[in-house]
This record gives sequence, structure tokens and C-alpha cells, in this order.
Amino acid sequence: FLDIRSVAKAFGGNQVLEDVSVQIAPGEIVGLLGPNGSGKSTLLNVITGFTPADAGSVHFDGRRIDRVAAHRIVRTGMARTFQLPSMPAKMSVMEVAMAAATAHHGVFDTLVGTARARATERAARDKAAHLLQELLLTPVRDLPAAAISGGQKKLLGIVCALMAEPRMLLLDEPTAGVHPNLRRDIVAALQRLNAQGMTLVIVEHDMHFIRDVCTRCVVLDRGSIVASCRPDELASNDRVLQAYLGTA
Ligand code: ATP
Ligand code: MG
Repeated sequence: FLDIRSVAKAFGGNQVLEDVSVQIAPGEIVGLLGPNGSGKSTLLNVITGFTPADAGSVHFDGRRIDRVAAHRIVRTGMARTFQLPSMPAKMSVMEVAMAAATAHHGVFDTLVGTARARATERAARDKAAHLLQELLLTPVRDLPAAAISGGQKKLLGIVCALMAEPRMLLLDEPTAGVHPNLRRDIVAALQRLNAQGMTLVIVEHDMHFIRDVCTRCVVLDRGSIVASCRPDELASNDRVLQAYLGTA
């Protein structure tokens, strides 16, 4: 389904990813773990076309995608969020969610003014309203997106990704900076999406989250994969302990 083959990436002399290979099957919820700077976000950037790899390739549904431009990646059925989302200064929260639908489907542009465009726009608006409600953003929906809090921006990033109705969703630390009550809602929402068939890759530091949500963990350390195991096997994995306790 998702097949990452021997990906390598260096920035200057800094080898950030080294011979990284991961296969992900439909329906999995894979937790991507590792110390700060181990290459997790860079791997998501390579998968989604934001960062070109120096070597290796990424295939999704049998199609090579690591050369697909970042803004087109949603058309392949994949969507992502960012660790530190930045929001346009002049758009409201609702407008940003709607713009995500436009970018994903490219429909409003080509069909402006037609009955079909209006119906599509109405459907997108309903969907955006529903997702904003689900992630508790309804009270801020008319505020400038740049003015909402950091945690709320993370939630809006999830809303935007879900507007694409992706088959695979990549989340970069979705619950960092989010209140624990809402974290539970996010977990429930992700499990519901997974039950409906969505495959998830989640970069996460919170071990409780990983244990509750993930079916498998992939652990990066200094750009290499040191473990791929069930969450309950993490604590007994020497390479993982080395990565986390720095005893290598
Ligand atoms: P964290 O848990 O802190 O988010 P991470 O595992 O996501 O860490 P990355 O963001 O992938 O780590 O960064 C890995 C390394 O790559 C870091 O040393 C970082 O400085 C470097 N790096 C990432 N992007 C760039 C870039 N565009 N230019 C230069 N160096 C970069
Ligand atoms: Mg990161």
C-alpha cells in the first residue's frame, strides 16, 4: 500500500535519513517515534513531496509518489498535517477549511456558477462545519485563522487534511500542545476514521497515545529505523531503550 524503499536524505553534511525502508498495509495505524531530530518530520516531508530524497523511492498504491509535487499529493489519496502549522493571515478558520476542499478537488474553479459547483460547495461547507464542530473549532470559525491558538491551529490542520477524504492520513504530532480532554476526542475521531478504512501514520512522543491508538510502531534513531514492533513490545526492545535512554 505505502512502500518506502531505501530512502536517504542529507542536509549539507548532516545525514538525516539513511536507508529507511517501511511498508504500511491498508488499515494500519502506525506510530512513528524517535528522539527530537531523528528524522520523523523529514520522512513525512519526503513521502508527501515537500522534500526530495537523495536516494530511494516511495510508492503508494503501486504508484511512485516521491516525485509528485507537494500540492498534488492529495490527488493520490494522501493527506497530512504539519508539526507547526502556519495559517494565512487574511482568511477565517471556515475559509481555510473551505480552501482545503478547493485545493483537494479543484472543482469550484472549473465549474464556477454552475448548479453542480454550488452543490459541491454546499457539500464542502457542510463537511467543514461538521469537522470544525467535531474538533471544537465552531466558536472560532469566523476568526482569522492566523489569530487562533497554537493548539487550535493543529486541530484546523487536521480538519483541512480530512476535507480531502484521504485513504491515508499522515499526522505530525497531532496532540502536542492540545488539552488532554480534547486529546481524547482526537483519539476517538482517529479510531472512527480508521474503522471506516483510513490508514494512519502518526508521529507522536506520547506513549499513552501510542499504546491506545497504534497497531504498530516504527522507531527512528539518528535517521535509521531501529525497531518495527507492537506498542506493547517497545519497553522490551533494546534498540528502542538505547534510542530513548541514550545508552548506545
Ligand atoms: P522533532 O521530534 O523535534 O520534531 P524530527 O524527528 O521530526 O524531530 P526532523 O525535523 O526530521 O526531526 O529533523 C531531523 C534533522 O534534519 C534535524 O537535525 C534538522 O535540523 C535537520 N533538518 C530538517 N529539515 C532541514 C532543512 N530544511 N534544512 C537543514 N536541515 C534540516
Ligand atoms: Mg518533527
